Amino acid sequence: MTTEISKVYQVGDVTVTRVTEMMLGGIPPEVYFPGSWDRMFLEENRDSLPSGLIDGNSQLIVSIGTWVVKTTNHTILIDTATGNDKNLPLNPDLANLQLPYLKRLKEAGVTPEEVDYVLLTHLHVDHVGWNTKLVDGKWVPTFPNAKYVFPLAEQEYYSSEASHNKANEVNFNVYEESVLPVVEAGLTQTIGPEGGHFLEIFKFIPTPGHSIGQMSISLKSDGEEALFGADVMHHPFQVFNPDWNSMYCEFTDLARISRLRVLEYIADRPVIYFSTHFPESAAGYVTRNGDSYKWDFI
Ligand SMILES: [Zn+2]
Repeated sequence: MTTEISKVYQVGDVTVTRVTEMMLGGIPPEVYFPGSWDRMFLEENRDSLPSGLIDGNSQLIVSIGTWVVKTTNHTILIDTATGNDKNLPLNPDLANLQLPYLKRLKEAGVTPEEVDYVLLTHLHVDHVGWNTKLVDGKWVPTFPNAKYVFPLAEQEYYSSEASHNKANEVNFNVYEESVLPVVEAGLTQTIGPEGGHFLEIFKFIPTPGHSIGQMSISLKSDGEEALFGADVMHHPFQVFNPDWNSMYCEFTDLARISRLRVLEYIADRPVIYFSTHFPESAAGYVTRNGDSYKWDFI
């Protein structure tokens, strides 16, 4: 699948642009939503669902990518996708990639040296990869002038033995290759458990469950609002079925609570939802649909 030049969204005085690292198709929904997937949902709603959610074989389409936020003074990245050359012994699908992410970033108007802040929602394999790049056999910060900002609880967990469990096999070695080098370079700043404001326009909001300390990031500018939801949801099917967890959600009860809280918040407000993994533009609006919710891409 190809990626296209992304749309530029305006939120108040700032612009937001998607840089997609990859699109992934052919994902069996019964595997992605273990114990939750209900074939009848698709049968009954196929004609009314937004297009682009599934491929011709009714398998899921998802994406991995970064959001670029440009203010008058700063260039900010929200999450850094998977990265190239990574050694992921228990995640062969995402290991040793060779993708033109930095070229796409440049096409979106950003060189690595220009990035002032990298805001990370959580420290999973597909959110921190481009924090670092391999140069002469050594992992170095990709964005040498940036401050990398992320939840403290994520750092504490993923730097410890506690995260070495079955649920985190896909993330093995990620902290060592993609987070520790920026810590050692003195480029990091952590956000405490309550979350909080950052750079005036951002607010880190705890949305744990998918991972232990995941935070979504709200953006407010000149009366307009957006939310970078992180992995509160992986696919629009979860807007329609908020109790469906993905196979990557570690703390399942908490993940459902955080998902509902986010949906409740954005359903009644004109808040643009910027997802990490939705297909198509990855951006859209959640609105109410009777007792449930629905999704429209923008
Ligand atoms: Zn993710």
